[in-house]
Amino acid sequence: MKSFEFNVQRFLLGRLERGDDVLDGLTDFCRCNGVDVGHIEGLGAIERGGVGYYDHEGRVYHEIRFDEGMEIASLVGNISRKDGEIFLHCHVTLSDSEGRCFGGHLLDGNVAVACEFTVAVLEGAAPERTHDEDTGLALW
Ligand code: ZN
Repeated sequence: MKSFEFNVQRFLLGRLERGDDVLDGLTDFCRCNGVDVGHIEGLGAIERGGVGYYDHEGRVYHEIRFDEGMEIASLVGNISRKDGEIFLHCHVTLSDSEGRCFGGHLLDGNVAVACEFTVAVLEGAAPERTHDEDTGLALW
């Protein structure tokens, strides 16, 4: 087990514009606001999008795509660094018109109808993600 300790430096609220890519928009927001390390939560709706499922045996992400409007029932993630760049790792729960939920890793291609979010900006140096041999993932 690894642990890191930070104090909260700032707490930000933001909103994406209609048509924004959720992951790109959140990453841009963090970059523009000088967020190096933090925690992010959000909610809203998308026109279309998708989630990823990591097959840990095959070490590959499977994409599950949705071509319909869905609620972002919940989005949660963290902000750190990978390859020297800001990196958001977010998971999302999307719900359809009947309330059925699908969840997983937030992929590119989730087109926002609306997305409101909060970012807890932490004080200090961001952990850097590196390749983890056991899982095949980039971890702290
Ligand atoms: Zn993930």
